[in-house]
Amino acid sequence: MQMKKPKKKIKETVIRSKQYDLAIIGAGPAGMMAAIRASECGADVVLLEKNHTPGAKLLLTGKERCNITNAETDVMEFSANFGKNGKFLISTLYRFGTKETIDFFHKNEMKTITERGGRIFPEGGTAKDVQELFYRLIKKNNIALFTDCTINSISQKGNMIEKIILANRDEIKAKNYLLSTGGLSYPQTGSTGDGYIWAKQMGHTIIQPEPALTPLFVKEKWMDEIGRLRLKNVMISVYQDNKKQDSRFGEALISGSFLGGPIILDMSKKIGKLLKNGHTQLFIDFKPALSFEKLDKRLLRDFEKHNKKGAKNILSELLPQKLIPIFLKLSKIDPLKKGREITKEERNKLRLLLKQFPLTVKCLSGFNNAIITSGGISLKNIDPKTMRSKIIQNLFFAGEIIDMDGPTGGYNLQVCWSTGYFAGENAAES
Ligand SMILES: Cc1cc2nc3c(=O)[nH]c(=O)nc-3n(C[C@H](O)[C@H](O)[C@H](O)COP(=O)(O)OP(=O)(O)OC[C@H]3O[C@@H](n4cnc5c(N)ncnc54)[C@H](O)[C@@H]3O)c2cc1C
Repeated sequence: MQMKKPKKKIKETVIRSKQYDLAIIGAGPAGMMAAIRASECGADVVLLEKNHTPGAKLLLTGKERCNITNAETDVMEFSANFGKNGKFLISTLYRFGTKETIDFFHKNEMKTITERGGRIFPEGGTAKDVQELFYRLIKKNNIALFTDCTINSISQKGNMIEKIILANRDEIKAKNYLLSTGGLSYPQTGSTGDGYIWAKQMGHTIIQPEPALTPLFVKEKWMDEIGRLRLKNVMISVYQDNKKQDSRFGEALISGSFLGGPIILDMSKKIGKLLKNGHTQLFIDFKPALSFEKLDKRLLRDFEKHNKKGAKNILSELLPQKLIPIFLKLSKIDPLKKGREITKEERNKLRLLLKQFPLTVKCLSGFNNAIITSGGISLKNIDPKTMRSKIIQNLFFAGEIIDMDGPTGGYNLQVCWSTGYFAGENAAES
């Protein structure tokens, strides 16, 4: 479906003569879901977006396939993925959790498919289809969507918001307001942290926003020789002070000294904290299914079987081609050395590299590449039973703006659907 060009200019008469039931700032997944639910509950809703189209970040999700949610339907199990903050989500998940989200998409004629790790995607569809579905629902529910909308300030009277003042001096008045401006990650999509500033001005505490689910850089320069490589079924462990701090099995991506992929992203928050304390190391286990002893037997067998072949060729059965020169260099083995000539000491070096390939973390790659922002509006300032601010009586929050971040696998969009739905419903009914 071709998206119609949204209204560019807001007519003064419409704005000045009207008092909406709910004014929402930020048309990302959370704001759009809140707007749709509030209008389904009978509220007259205006949705303000600074970009030209809603859901710019949504378009990038799940490598443009949009990992809508996760197949984990147990509320307690689902919320446990968010650490200690997860408890805050329990009420919203009971009201509109993963099951209800899947039903929502099915009801709106978007079939879904479940993949590895319970990741749920539109079946045969893309993130663009999800964006268009929301756009259709915005139109169907007569929600006033104002795009290219620059907000100058939010005017407050006592513990209430009085109005939103736009850059062109127009004013938007509503009974209730909702902030869903997202976090600070991928700022090019519009998430530039504006909501934090307004919320802070109104007395809310902002937990220091930090990049989370982010790739990282390692110090080892020779990693550049590898180029781009996808690693499957590896185990990566994080160490500090010779103690294992975290460890994950799955897929990682190497792009020179830049490391990403699901297991790196999922450990990045912890790595960020460890880096503040000092030296942080990663160890890649390329053969997690084999113990040191079994791997030694396997190497011995391979070297005996191919005793006339060079080390370079023998290793091609064990490792991706791009890694072989690095392994030989680090273990100081001549690439042409025959299988029968490889010493026990050399075999041990190879075995160690295969099981504990060492890398030193230099830094996380920052907000520009972070999938999500950790930190945000303190949960202590929000009522989990309504998503209403405890400081400003007619203000609600939804989505990434709140201090909540989960792992990869559809967990973060689910927070947007759940909190958006719940906040929209409560704002409409209040
Ligand atoms: C590359 C990438 C891939 C991802 N993939 C997945 C995935 O597959 N599954 C998953 O669960 N999560 C994924 N995420 C995370 C997910 O996209 C976010 O959790 C989600 O977009 C947050 O939604 P939101 O509505 O809270 O905020 P956002 O999506 O950030 O939307 C906020 C909106 O508010 C608008 N806004 C901001 N300031 C103002 C202002 N001053 N005035 C008006 N409007 C304003 C912005 O322009 C934006 O449109 C991914 C993130 C990235 C970056």
